[in-house]
Parts: sequence; C-alpha cells; structure tokens
Amino acid sequence: MALVAAMLALALAAASLVLVLADVATTSTESAAQQLASPPAAPADGKRADAGRALATRNPLYKTGRLTDVDCDPGDLPAGSISAYRRFLTRVTACLNKAWAAQFRKADLPFSKPRLRIITTKVKTPCGLWNAGADGVYCSTDRTMYLMISRAQLRNPFPLGISRLIAHEYGHHVQQTSGIWSYYWAARSGAGKARRLQLSRNSELQAECFSAAFMSTMKGTRLVTDSDWAYTVEWFRKNGAKGWPQNDHGKGPTQAAWMTRGFNRGTPGACNTWAAQARNTL
Ligand SMILES: [Zn+2]
Repeated sequence: MALVAAMLALALAAASLVLVLADVATTSTESAAQQLASPPAAPADGKRADAGRALATRNPLYKTGRLTDVDCDPGDLPAGSISAYRRFLTRVTACLNKAWAAQFRKADLPFSKPRLRIITTKVKTPCGLWNAGADGVYCSTDRTMYLMISRAQLRNPFPLGISRLIAHEYGHHVQQTSGIWSYYWAARSGAGKARRLQLSRNSELQAECFSAAFMSTMKGTRLVTDSDWAYTVEWFRKNGAKGWPQNDHGKGPTQAAWMTRGFNRGTPGACNTWAAQARNTL
C-alpha cells in the first residue's frame, strides 16, 4: 500500500508540477501561509518564452496609474464568527474586483474575477494537497483564492492582516489574468534552481506590492491606519523571511521595501519586479 501510494504521489507530482509557494502573517500573532499554484498546461518553448518575457517586464498594466479608490469599507470583523469572516472577505473581494477591473479596462486587457472560498479545514484544490500551516492559496487552475481561517484568527482577528493576505492572493490572480504568470511558468520550466528561486521572488514580491497598492487606496480609513500599516511592514521586515530558508520570497527587508513602494505609489507600475535590479529582489 505504502509503495503504491508513494508511486501515485510521484506520478501526480510529475504530472502537475505542483509548485508550493509560501506566504506570511494574517493575524497579529505569528502565523504562516502557503499557496499552491499550477503551471499552464503546455509549457512554452524557448522562443515563446522570450516573446513572453515582455508580458512580465512590459505588461500594459504598468501604465495604468494609481489604483482607483473604490471607497472600500468592509465593515467590522468581530471575533468568533466564521460568517463574519465570510462577509468581511466577500466585501474586500468585491472592492478588489472593482479596483482591478478598472486597471484592466485602462490597460485594454480582458478581465475576469477570481472565486473565493473560505475554509476552516484543509481541502484538496485542483493544484494539489493543502500544505500544513497554510492560510491562503491561489490556484490558477480553478482561479480560486482559498483562505483558511484558523481558530487563532477567529479568536483574535486582525482585519488589516487578513485584507493584506487576500489582496496578495488577488495579486497572483492579476498576474495570472494579465499574462505575467504565463511568462513566469514558461521561464521556470527548464531553469536551474537559483533561477527558479529568483523567478519565485519576482512573482511573490510583485504580488505583495500589488497588495500594498490596493491597501493604499484605504489609507487613513479605520481599516488601514498609519500605525497598523507601519506595524505590519515592520512585522514583515523582521519576520517575512522566517520559515523560507531557500529565499523564494525575498528577505524581510526586501519584502518590506516592495510593500512600502507599492503603498507609497499606489500603482501597478511601481511593482515591476521583473525589470528590477537583482539586488532589489534578493
Ligand atoms: Zn504569494
């Protein structure tokens, strides 16, 4: 039985090239989140990958200016209620849909909304098994953001933290929908380990920067107070890289730098990690 299971796992892994990426805190206490994502069905060949590079480095989204302030007010997030979490995150997602749909319109790119699933126990997604300790997943196969609400989060909600996480997962959906990820996955296939880690950092730091650009539209509201935002950036500077010794997410100060850049400029164009100096994506 064990052998059959192991062989099946191996075959599945080979077939789907499931990639495990990792994310960070969603509560004021330390917790880790991970995400799974899957590559497109047909990897591009070298030529197409070259042509595709421009999708990442010169994506039309970069010229769309500041994200629109959509007057996002997701309301309260009282402790102890999963339905309150569902309502809150559904509202944040509606804000993200409005804000990003406007950017895609400006870029003249087709847009589609992601799906949202709030869960309290691990599920299997089309991208693979749920990883231990995961809080959030964006699976490109079913274009779904999966957010797992832990007991600790239920007991002690940190609305800014969970909003920042869903905006990060949404950032991956933006990468998927705009074509940035088609370059990412094509470039990964056949790349060596160091290059794969670099590509992973580019992707993660960009998603984090997109998240911060969205969060900046709520600057000064009760959800995104100056002090809570400063606390969050500082948390990432100190803890953002903990748990990822391979450095597939960037070091803490690098994460904090892209958060700050996205927040201060509020534009997708500020988040072009693909054209950044290597030393700024370490
Ligand atoms: Zn991520």
